[in-house]
Amino acid sequence: MRVHVVGNVCVDTTFRLDRFPRPGETLNASEHADGLGGKGANQAVAAARTGADVRFWTAIGNDAAGAWIREQLRRDLDTSHLTMLPKESDRSTIMVDARSENLIVTGASCATAFDPLAESGFAASIERGDIVVMQGNLHPNATTACLRAAHGAGAMTIFNPSPLATGTTPHLSDVSLVIANAGEAAQLTGTGDPDAAVRELIRRGAGTAIVTLGALGCLVADGEGRIERIMAPKVAVTDTSGAGDVFCGCLAGCLAAGMDLAAAARIAVRAAAISVGRAGTLGSCPDRQEMKTLME
Ligand code: ATP
Repeated sequence: MRVHVVGNVCVDTTFRLDRFPRPGETLNASEHADGLGGKGANQAVAAARTGADVRFWTAIGNDAAGAWIREQLRRDLDTSHLTMLPKESDRSTIMVDARSENLIVTGASCATAFDPLAESGFAASIERGDIVVMQGNLHPNATTACLRAAHGAGAMTIFNPSPLATGTTPHLSDVSLVIANAGEAAQLTGTGDPDAAVRELIRRGAGTAIVTLGALGCLVADGEGRIERIMAPKVAVTDTSGAGDVFCGCLAGCLAAGMDLAAAARIAVRAAAISVGRAGTLGSCPDRQEMKTLME
């Protein structure tokens, strides 16, 4: 089974400062560094590290940042499915202060303009039984159309509604598995009770659903009324950013390896726990050897 991740990629530039600047003020950062970012890229890389055959459908700009993104992705994936748009590549500026609070600004012109059905070979390459993973960074119409096409072609569709778009949410009847964190699940369903929310996602048409609960692990609903709670291992938290993406990518890879949903979620919870124990977003994702050990 192949895993298609359809989503965004960007250059994250992280600045570390004692405190955030006030309006009109300029401060020198104590450190700054560029890294690969974007939920699409994070999930594609995490899935690839499970050993899955991953195709990453994304858009980069026709600029030096786009070339840099391609080089970074090549460490983990086949990059032949990137679409180059006549735009600047997407970027985020992330400021982190001494208390580890962050402020993030993103320029997402490639992600919001990208139409995978019109501008890439995505639709033609989906085969029955493939797994298609999407997040909330592309234009809502593109996400809706891709999930519909993938579902219609007999793929298993996974939708992670993050960030939650203000526009349309895809029809959950086109989604085989929705993976939402507690906040997203509450916003989507109107209930703050994760048990009720996971049931409501199924009632609204999703085949199966997972609500992730941070340090408390996740709830898995199999679509036949069974809900399983999977506890997260206790870990000393260094940086939780990217934990959700490691969870989604690893889960998709485990499903592609033939595991059932609960077994895949048990591995994904352990992979995400490794990532929260380390600094960084993609930098904290378990490597291939660690994924292999988790999956044995
Ligand atoms: P993020 O935005 O930080 O990437 P998220 O908000 O999308 O994450 P969470 O529910 O916070 O999603 O975390 C996803 C998964 O990561 C959880 O289901 C859990 O398995 C793991 N995780 C997150 N925080 C912790 C923690 N403190 N200890 C252990 N595991 C954790």
